[in-house]
Amino acid sequence: MHELSIVMSIIEIAEENAKNENASVITEIELDIGKQAGVVMEALTFAIDSAKMGTLLENAEWKINEIPAKARCASCQYEFEAQQLFEPCPKCGNPFSDIFEGRELKVKSLKIE
Ligand SMILES: [Zn+2]
Repeated sequence: MHELSIVMSIIEIAEENAKNENASVITEIELDIGKQAGVVMEALTFAIDSAKMGTLLENAEWKINEIPAKARCASCQYEFEAQQLFEPCPKCGNPFSDIFEGRELKVKSLKIE
């Protein structure tokens, strides 16, 4: 499962950060997940529940921010929120646009003790 490996690398990064700060517990983790990051939210939360066991994040509060996808029309440069990949420009109908936001997949913040 793709989401499980994502969660495991997130946990790895978080634990490494916590250890660098000599923390023994992570109380909160905040993630930015873009809607075009290729992650299925239900699978992600399921993966978190199984992967966090026995880690510093076992009792942490997981906050997940879903970042909407923003696209810029290749023709008229109009910027719009894209619900899906290859969505035509709502202004001029051009089918080509670049997603410039919404592919994030990162740890935004950690609270440690
Ligand atoms: Zn356009």
